Amino acid sequence: MEGPATYERPTVREGCLRLHFNENTSGCAASVHDAVQALSARDLAYYPDVLETTRASAERFGIASEEIVLTNGLDEGLLLSAVAATAMSREARREVLIAEPSYSLHRAFVEAIGADAVAAGPRADLRFPLGEVLDRITPRTALVFVTSPGNPTGEAVSLKALEAIADRLPDGSALFIDAAYADFGGEDPTPLAGAHPQVLVGRTFSKAYGLAGVRVGAVIGRGPLFDRLRQLVPPYTTNVVAATAVRAALRDLGPFERYCSEVPRSRELIYDVCERLGVESWPSAANFVLIRPGDRAAEILDALAARGVQVRDRSQVPGCAGCLRVTAGWTRETAAFVSALEDIW
Ligand code: PMP
Repeated sequence: MEGPATYERPTVREGCLRLHFNENTSGCAASVHDAVQALSARDLAYYPDVLETTRASAERFGIASEEIVLTNGLDEGLLLSAVAATAMSREARREVLIAEPSYSLHRAFVEAIGADAVAAGPRADLRFPLGEVLDRITPRTALVFVTSPGNPTGEAVSLKALEAIADRLPDGSALFIDAAYADFGGEDPTPLAGAHPQVLVGRTFSKAYGLAGVRVGAVIGRGPLFDRLRQLVPPYTTNVVAATAVRAALRDLGPFERYCSEVPRSRELIYDVCERLGVESWPSAANFVLIRPGDRAAEILDALAARGVQVRDRSQVPGCAGCLRVTAGWTRETAAFVSALEDIW
């Protein structure tokens, strides 16, 4: 029997541009770094109090403090939501529907907890498979994972499509909208979690806020599944360094805004080079672009790395044979990718 899918951390080559993790490569705001450095020995010795960080995060997302739970990265929120929806389901619902192509940890978590992953898609054009998602929802569906903007395609799923999925859910099941990249584009799905008790929305401080290393994500919701999730999240999962960093980041949004405003320009640089070279690319609402060099993907991946630019091989993701994913963050770094690609081509 095949074992559950596992997550393989991409290799990191010393000295290379990291355009393969969708991180904010210039780091967090200086004021955030200062706040972390100002922590005292006693701060580190005490269990963290995250009430203030939770309140500030709720305010940022425009919701009430009772409607958000902070997690150790959004990854923990994804895992515990899958546990809450399946293992704790009295109705013994076992299926988790995943719209493909999707973030590989959705499937890895579902399989690791022994639930049944059911795929909708991928379509040949990799567009969001709305019709198939709706068709595959059954009384056994415990949870539906949708990523918007999608990873790896960057496609923003419309609120109308998300509402149609939420309306189709059987009682007691839920839609998890993984909005890890919502800071960069697409319609904000957060209001759906307020309007619909079967919808959860996941956010992260890893990307636009430059805090991937401290690990803070958030799940937003207000229904029975959200209550079960809150019971599952360990009380001190957001550590004192993370809580301090997020509070400081929310006090100083300038660096966040500067990064977010560069992202669309970087995406354009990538679309342009793809058009010049005749490489297929997908319009993205996130801080990355999926491109398809096809048969040359492996060669391009290696040749870029040899020139000091790491991008992500996505050729194993369902539907994405021959595809690479490139972070579209700071334009200076995107330009380095563009000239390396032109040079190789
Ligand atoms: N969801 C998606 C779609 C992602 O791409 C990522 C980051 N790779 C995450 C969730 C997890 O983010 P975090 O760093 O907050 O765990």
